[in-house]
Amino acid sequence: MLTKYFSKQELKTWLIYFTTVLIAVYVHEIGHCLPAWVHGYKVIPTPAKEYPIDTIPAHLQPYISLGGIAGSVLFAAIVFIFYLLKTKKYSSAILAGSVASPGLYTYRFLMMGRGHDETEFQESQAALGFSYDGHSVDWIFLFLVITGIFIWIIKAKPTIAVTGRLLLGIILTFLFLVILQKANNTIFDPIFYK
Ligand SMILES: [Zn+2]
Repeated sequence: MLTKYFSKQELKTWLIYFTTVLIAVYVHEIGHCLPAWVHGYKVIPTPAKEYPIDTIPAHLQPYISLGGIAGSVLFAAIVFIFYLLKTKKYSSAILAGSVASPGLYTYRFLMMGRGHDETEFQESQAALGFSYDGHSVDWIFLFLVITGIFIWIIKAKPTIAVTGRLLLGIILTFLFLVILQKANNTIFDPIFYK
């Protein structure tokens, strides 16, 4: 059915893109869990949220927040390095997938003043020794997105013809991330928040 509108290669590109988005989000959640695991506390990462089984002490919370941020930044940075070293057929899709969540954070930062609706960024900033109320994490994601776009332009040399697909990608990504979060909460909240 979809092949009526998209070529097989185009569909594969979208599939690779959204798989990368999914992996990037999961790496973020695993990042949240790592500080807890290291200290022997049980936390379960699901595709779009982490669920503490043990009670996490308050002093560990900033590092739990920072773990997720570090996971997202590292994932994108590694993809950037591979992209700079070697570009293959689907590299641009993977590159775009690695900046999808940072892109949404940046959009929220520019439109609403904060990249995250909870206190995840503030706690991460405190853990890093930056001002709790500042915007250093917002700026880090903004920088990451601009860097991603910059290296894509340099290496892929896109033409104006990609504009339509870019816009479609932005809309689909927004929907995908919202639905992913909703689905994740619908499935796992009843299991872990009893
Ligand atoms: Zn998070």
